[in-house]
Amino acid sequence: MIHPPLPTNEDERLSALRRYQILDTPAEEAYDDLVTIASGICGTPMALVSLIDVERQWFKARAGLDAAQTPREVSFCGHVVARGRTMVVPDAMQDPRFHDNPLVTGDPSIRFYAGAPLVDSGGHAIGTLCVIDTVPRDLEPFQQRALESLSRQVMALMELRAAHRELQHHLSEREWYERQLDQHQQQLQARNAELTLESLTDALTGLPNRRAFAARMEQALAHAHAGGAPMALAIIDIDHFKQINDLHGHPAGDDTLVKVARALAAQFTAPSVVARFGGEEFAVVLPGVTAEAAQVQCDHAREAVEWFPDGLPVTVSIGLTAVQSGDTVSALYTRADRGLYEAKRTGRNRVVAA
Ligand code: GH3
Ligand code: MG
Ligand code: MG
Repeated sequence: MIHPPLPTNEDERLSALRRYQILDTPAEEAYDDLVTIASGICGTPMALVSLIDVERQWFKARAGLDAAQTPREVSFCGHVVARGRTMVVPDAMQDPRFHDNPLVTGDPSIRFYAGAPLVDSGGHAIGTLCVIDTVPRDLEPFQQRALESLSRQVMALMELRAAHRELQHHLSEREWYERQLDQHQQQLQARNAELTLESLTDALTGLPNRRAFAARMEQALAHAHAGGAPMALAIIDIDHFKQINDLHGHPAGDDTLVKVARALAAQFTAPSVVARFGGEEFAVVLPGVTAEAAQVQCDHAREAVEWFPDGLPVTVSIGLTAVQSGDTVSALYTRADRGLYEAKRTGRNRVVAA
């Protein structure tokens, strides 16, 4: 018996075979069909799709044979792979390579063998499509051509399966990237929303800051002018706040700011907006509110601060003004400031309309 020689490019050939990830996979109808056709055309009881692994030949599809694999060293297909072209053995008993081969002298008693190589696009023979009989015989030229055509069909099927798998892989990789991108974008959007909010909010009191307030004022004034609706502006300043800092420390001052902010926010509800205007000053825009109603609301707010149950005792002075036709934002501020100045001058803890 002559063992099948190793192809010169055996390592490359094995990696080519590995690429298909086909070894030890379950039977598939598409391959089974091709061996059925091969045995039908060649008129043999057995046909195989055999793949030549390091030390074995493993059958992806088989007709008329039970074994799932046999050792490579006794394989006929190993010879086909080594020579890289079709091999026909009309009578194995008469062939010095095979006459004492256990597959010839024992089960499955091979006499006739014809195998066409499975050659990949890189020229590597990775296995065979072969037909086998237990009696000596030969192939008609058309049968050999058909066997070779079918071997190319087996190869095409393997290529298709591999391409499909690679495509799936790329797709799932792409999906992964898209999901990552999506997450990133969501994080970015969330952060943007946070930043926007931060840029419009006073960190200490949580009230809208001066910037946010300015926008709200413009909007409310335009609306008031357009509809001829009333609107008022109040500027609220904590009385003798410097003393609180001086006597109790800056943190106590901060606590007082938070406390006053809370009392004011509870008094001036939507659509009114109260903002921290700067330092110990707050501003309130009161859309749709007349001068008289604003006076009442501001008095309530002043009392609410004075009687606020927590923290150090504190009072506020409030300058108030109502919108007049042709008013600009700065005219409103100027008048409200004048009211505030007046409130301070006349004893603090009071509301003065200007
Ligand atoms: P008036 O009754 O005339 O308004 O007197 P006042 O002491 O309240 O006014 P003044 O403008 O003299 O002092 C305001 C003080 O507010 C000075 C400043 O250090 C303090 N202040 C401004 N912002 C903060 C803050 O965020 N935290 C604290 N703790 N103090 C602040
Ligand atoms: Mg002040
Ligand atoms: Mg003050």
